Amino acid sequence: EAKRQFRGYALASEIGAGPPHEQLSLIGEMRDALLRQEFEVFYQPKLDLASGRVTGAEALLRWRHPSRGLIPPAQFIPFAEQTGFIREITPWLLDQVVARTAAWRAQGLNLVVSANLSTLDLLHSGLAPLVKRLLASSGLPPGQLCLEITESALMDDPDLALATLNQLAESGVRLSIDDYGAGHASLAYLKSLPVHELKIDQAFIFSLMESGKDAEIVRSTIALGHALGLKVVAEGAETDAELGWLKRAGCDVAQGYGIARPMPGAEVTGWMADQDSA
Ligand code: C2E
Ligand code: CA
Ligand code: CA
Ligand code: CA
Repeated sequence: EAKRQFRGYALASEIGAGPPHEQLSLIGEMRDALLRQEFEVFYQPKLDLASGRVTGAEALLRWRHPSRGLIPPAQFIPFAEQTGFIREITPWLLDQVVARTAAWRAQGLNLVVSANLSTLDLLHSGLAPLVKRLLASSGLPPGQLCLEITESALMDDPDLALATLNQLAESGVRLSIDDYGAGHASLAYLKSLPVHELKIDQAFIFSLMESGKDAEIVRSTIALGHALGLKVVAEGAETDAELGWLKRAGCDVAQGYGIARPMPGAEVTGWMADQDSA
């Protein structure tokens, strides 16, 4: 089962898809990586389209492997989710993100920073208390942290996931539905969630200018999001034409290579300064 699921991921095909002892060795390797600080959080700016200002960023995990180089999350997050190791990664990640966001705030840079959660995170009763503790100890206003969840993350145990989401929402953090349109979200369900933001899946943005159907889907998703009182984010915007289209269509926020690629946290303030002087 694991073999079938993980074929196609480069790292997994090297070691993760092997016999059980090799999978254990990958978990061990990830645990060592966490201890040796080989995981690194990159940040991708999010542009507020009306003001033309960067008001947020998404935290995206990377593994700076000593021999394999920079490994993208698609090559180890699915494995971390499947083995449960994600429960060790997410608390580390949230700690990093809250600390970084608070440090930017101390420098006068107030960004709303998003972090991605997995299904297992939402099913863990410790998540909401952890988030509260991190916010309290850092002094970061809860509204500067946003947690992105996918529809599929809610499907495993909707009642438990919803209980976690409600706790998180009560603590004042923002919640975002990621990859919207890629899964099987029911509108009734969306209405019942305590979320603030809807991120249109990048598959609909890539051919926005060429595909009338994608353009209509994006237009109606923006309308739907606004009707539900949500901020609408488009990700995967790679060109000025796409950014212009999204702005004219009333999309609130855009994220994509057309604005900036994900970058190490230490590079963000320099990048922001370059933007201001350009
Ligand atoms: P995602 O949450 O949908 O993140 C957006 C992905 O799209 C990122 O890939 C980002 O680099 C990429 N992207 C952004 N703009 C563009 C663009 O204009 N063109 C193209 N082609 N791609 C763009 P990345 O960093 O490789 O992450 C892939 C996925 O891995 C994420 O998808 C998310 O599902 C997962 N992931 C990343 N970091 C974490 C994490 O800390 N925790 C968890 N649970 N999952 C994570
Ligand atoms: Ca995301
Ligand atoms: Ca996404
Ligand atoms: Ca395109």
